[in-house]
Amino acid sequence: MTRQLAMIPGDGIGPEVVAAAIEIIEASGVKATWTELHAGRAAHEKFGDPLPEATLEGVRAADATLKGPTATAKGIGFRSVNVALRQKLVLYANYRPAKTMPGILSRYEDVDLIVVRENTEGLYSGLEHEVVDGVVESLRIISRKASERIARFAFETARKQKRKRVTCVHKANILKLSDGLFLECCGRVAKEFPDIEFNDSIVDATAMQMVRNPQEYDVLVMENLFGDILSDLSSGLVGGLGVTPSANIGDGIAVFEAVHGTAPDIAGKGIANPTALVLSGVLMLRYLGEEGPADAIEQAVRSVILAGETLTGDLGGKADTAQFVAAVIGQL
Ligand code: NAD
Repeated sequence: MTRQLAMIPGDGIGPEVVAAAIEIIEASGVKATWTELHAGRAAHEKFGDPLPEATLEGVRAADATLKGPTATAKGIGFRSVNVALRQKLVLYANYRPAKTMPGILSRYEDVDLIVVRENTEGLYSGLEHEVVDGVVESLRIISRKASERIARFAFETARKQKRKRVTCVHKANILKLSDGLFLECCGRVAKEFPDIEFNDSIVDATAMQMVRNPQEYDVLVMENLFGDILSDLSSGLVGGLGVTPSANIGDGIAVFEAVHGTAPDIAGKGIANPTALVLSGVLMLRYLGEEGPADAIEQAVRSVILAGETLTGDLGGKADTAQFVAAVIGQL
């Protein structure tokens, strides 16, 4: 089957790492046609809009979209292309696996957890105002609909991946109404999944435990802000943002992207590490049911990193992007 995929090159190193990921995906034998869409500073310069309607339409129409990092130009209406993209397309689930990669220096050898973050509400609802001079207020929205939806996503992910447990991370001891509702919704959805264990954990204690004993966790589900913070913490457990993939998923729409930014300091030099975007491509292939090519690419990336001979500068090597890509394709 030929997949109808979209790609957003984005800004800075975006075009370089997206091209690298597509080259590897094509070498894996996946049949796809790619439509190029535009977002970020490049789109603003070209079309006067950092997130043109045609891009939203293209993402909706595609089976899935691979996205490079985008820079948000100052003073152009909204704070972040990424937040706008997630909200306009209702990409309600942010999915961030953190798995130890042998060959990359990190504190632990056996981390394998998934952070599922609610992507549309919480403190990121964009409801902020100045009450009086010197006093501002940000509203933290938690709804039953969004909480049950993200809980169901977490349990379905756990079931699909044959995971044991889902942990609801919250602060319901203090935020009794909002996080009380979130916890209650997770508990209700848990009853639909008797094959998956369910427990809950207070966010501050979770942060400490994740650092002390990350092996304890399996799938964690939480609201937007806690998810933003703990998903970066989870990346730190396995070697940092340079190797961390992510997915933003809605109903029938999905955007896959690295969690790092546009790296303006190295853009255009051909030395960016494409690993995070290649692994985001692996998540995309799994989402599409292309398990064979996904396994092959993940294994190839892991072998190249473990061998340590063709690493990019950020991982302490001397290879450029093209050499890394060639090494991965050589392993396929
Ligand atoms: P950054 O991730 O771009 O860079 C931080 C450091 O990590 C830099 O030294 C950079 O060279 C290095 N780095 C990042 N990715 C790398 C890679 N693949 N290979 C090698 N080195 C890499 O973070 P920043 O400097 O805070 O942000 C720069 C821009 O990116 C900002 O405009 C920000 O808004 C944007 N941003 C976009 C996204 C996104 O689109 N998903 C995410 C984060 C930041």
